[in-house]
Amino acid sequence: MSATPARRSLAAVTLLALLVLSGCTAGPTLHARRISAHQPAPSASPFAPSASPSTSPSATAKPAPGSLDWYLSQVPTFPEAPPPQPVPLPTTGAAPFWHRLPTDQKVAFITIDDGGLARPSEVADFVWRARIPVTMFLNSPAAEEYPEYFRQIQVAGGVVENHTITHNSLAGRSYDYQKREICGAADKLEALFGKRATLFRPPFGEHDSTTLKAAHDCGAKAVLHWTETVHEGKVRYQTPEKVVQPGDVLLMHFRPALMDDLLAALKAIHRAGLTPALLEDYVL
Ligand SMILES: [Zn+2]
Repeated sequence: MSATPARRSLAAVTLLALLVLSGCTAGPTLHARRISAHQPAPSASPFAPSASPSTSPSATAKPAPGSLDWYLSQVPTFPEAPPPQPVPLPTTGAAPFWHRLPTDQKVAFITIDDGGLARPSEVADFVWRARIPVTMFLNSPAAEEYPEYFRQIQVAGGVVENHTITHNSLAGRSYDYQKREICGAADKLEALFGKRATLFRPPFGEHDSTTLKAAHDCGAKAVLHWTETVHEGKVRYQTPEKVVQPGDVLLMHFRPALMDDLLAALKAIHRAGLTPALLEDYVL
């Protein structure tokens, strides 16, 4: 879909590095799991994800509903993503607040929030094998508790961004309070994942002008709301059009039905004639 070749080869290199590292630092179970997690189709080169589910080893047998192969078999075929044209950013000393990305390109964006509640085990494999571009807005304590889980999604092409430490509403709080929540999470996430967050999502979407200033001062280039939510496999439109529009941002959570939510988001984006793309390719 939209992950650039450079990003994907970076992911492959990171995967190699993690495999090497895990041989030194992790037990055999984790090591074995990680190798099998990204098991390519027999016809594919080791780090080239299969282009379509039809190359999956079980293509001849009908995959069991709910299995990873079943999810892969349900993923629609998208038009090629257009080359991303990064959006202009203000130079006002405050991050812009966007419900949808200001782009006319035929793309939409999948975002996954929080991280503390549930972490379905096959998400990294799904993201990798179906090449789903995802941005994860994580609370830093969840990231700290389950770093391997989110690292696997990062290796699969996902990008970690900032969703505060405590998930308290920021609106109306002092600059110092908001900065502690935003910079504190950014520092922790950077230490865990090796990249400074450049996007911020305030808990519940609640924010004020102080939030946009504090987010900017902590390194965020934009503050993201959303235009659709996805829960238990159902897309809820928060815009009058009731169809995904170019630049739309779909919100889901690390909850038990995340595989269904990812699939529902992909189908909704496909129905709209759009292709999923990565926010970070548009906000530079
Ligand atoms: Zn949240």
